[in-house]
Amino acid sequence: MEMNLKSMFKKADGKPFVIAGPCSAESEEQVMTAAKALAAQGIDCFRSGIWKPRTRPGSFEGVGRVGLKWMKRVKQETGLPVTVEVAKRDHVFDALKHGIDVLWLGARTTVNPFSVQEVADALEGVDVPVLIKNPINPDLKLWIGAIERIYKAGITQIGVIHRGFSYHGETKYRNVPRWQLPIELKRRFPDLAIINDNSHICGRRDILLDVAQKAMDLDFDGIMTEVHPTPDDAWSDAAQQITPDQFKDLVDSLVLREPTTDDIEFLEHIEHLRGEIDEIDNELINLLGRRMQLAEGIGEYKKRNNISILQPSRWSEILESATAKGKIKGLSEEFMAVMLKAIHQESINHQAKVMNAEDVERLMKP
Ligand code: PEP
Ligand code: MN
Repeated sequence: MEMNLKSMFKKADGKPFVIAGPCSAESEEQVMTAAKALAAQGIDCFRSGIWKPRTRPGSFEGVGRVGLKWMKRVKQETGLPVTVEVAKRDHVFDALKHGIDVLWLGARTTVNPFSVQEVADALEGVDVPVLIKNPINPDLKLWIGAIERIYKAGITQIGVIHRGFSYHGETKYRNVPRWQLPIELKRRFPDLAIINDNSHICGRRDILLDVAQKAMDLDFDGIMTEVHPTPDDAWSDAAQQITPDQFKDLVDSLVLREPTTDDIEFLEHIEHLRGEIDEIDNELINLLGRRMQLAEGIGEYKKRNNISILQPSRWSEILESATAKGKIKGLSEEFMAVMLKAIHQESINHQAKVMNAEDVERLMKP
C-alpha cells in the first residue's frame, strides 16, 4: 500500500526526536517532577502510561482517566507535547478530550488486528499523530498491517516504535531487538520515522546507552526512554527506569553521525571497501554452492549404502570446532550458531532432495 506520510517524528538537523517520561503516571507530583526536569533538558515529547496493559491481573493497571488531567497540566506548564498509550475506543476519546497531542499503540495492541481496528475507527476524522509499537512477536506483516489500518483511518502523522520482541531462552535483553525487522521496515517505507524504545528492549539500566547508540548508528529518528524521579520506587518497570539526570547523561553520551556526506575522498574510500565486501560475498556464495554440491554427492553415496541423512555426532563436531575457530576470528558464538544451523539445514535439504528423488518421481507418476 502506497502511503503519503508526514514526519513530525523525523530526525531534524541530525538531532534525534526524544520522547521521555515515566512508564506509568502514578501521582500528579511524580508526573510534574519528571516533566519539569525533562522539559529543562529540551526533550521533544513527554510520555506516561495511564492505562497499563499488564501481563498478569492484580499488578498496577494504571491510574486511569485522572492521569489525563496531570498530562494536560504538563502540557500547560511546560509547553511539551504529551503522549499516552491507547488500546480501546474509550481511551482514544478520553485522550483527545484532554488534548493529548500524540497517541501510541502498545505492543500488545499492535499484535491484535481487532484492537488496532477499534482504535483506527475511533480515530476516523481526527488527524492526531500516532506512534505504533512493534507487535510482541517478530512479525513484520502484523506491524505493517497496524500501520495501514491507522493510515486508512486518515492519520498521516505516523511513526513507529521499535521496542523489541519476546523471546524464549537466555538473553541479556527483556525483548530481543532483532534489528533487521525495523531496518526492513525502513527499507520499505523510507518516509516512516522510527523511534527506538531502549527501555523495553533492555529491561535494565546498564545497557540502555548501548541500545540507543546502536539505534543512532542505524540512522533511527529518535528514542523513547522511561524516566522516573525515583526509579526504584516505580509502580511498573522499575528495573529499566532511570532518573532525569541519568537520562541527561545518556543523551549527552550519544554519538550522532551524519547519514552521508559529499566528501569525495571519503566516498571513494567507502566505495573501495564496499567493492572488497562485494567480492567476499561473491566468494562466500561460490563456496556455499560448492558445499551444497558436495552435500548432494554425500546424499547419493549415503543412499547407495542406505545410511540416514542426519548424523548427530558429525553435526556436533562441526558446530564445536567451527565455533572455536570463529571465536579466534572475532565471530560471536551466537552468530556462528545461527550461520552454521542455516548452512546445515540447507545441506540437509540438498541431501534429502537427492535421497528422495526416486520416491518423489515415483509418487509423481500417474
Ligand atoms: C510502555 O511503553 O510502558 C509499554 C507498556 O510498552 P510495550 O507496549 O512496549 O510493552
Ligand atoms: Mn513500561
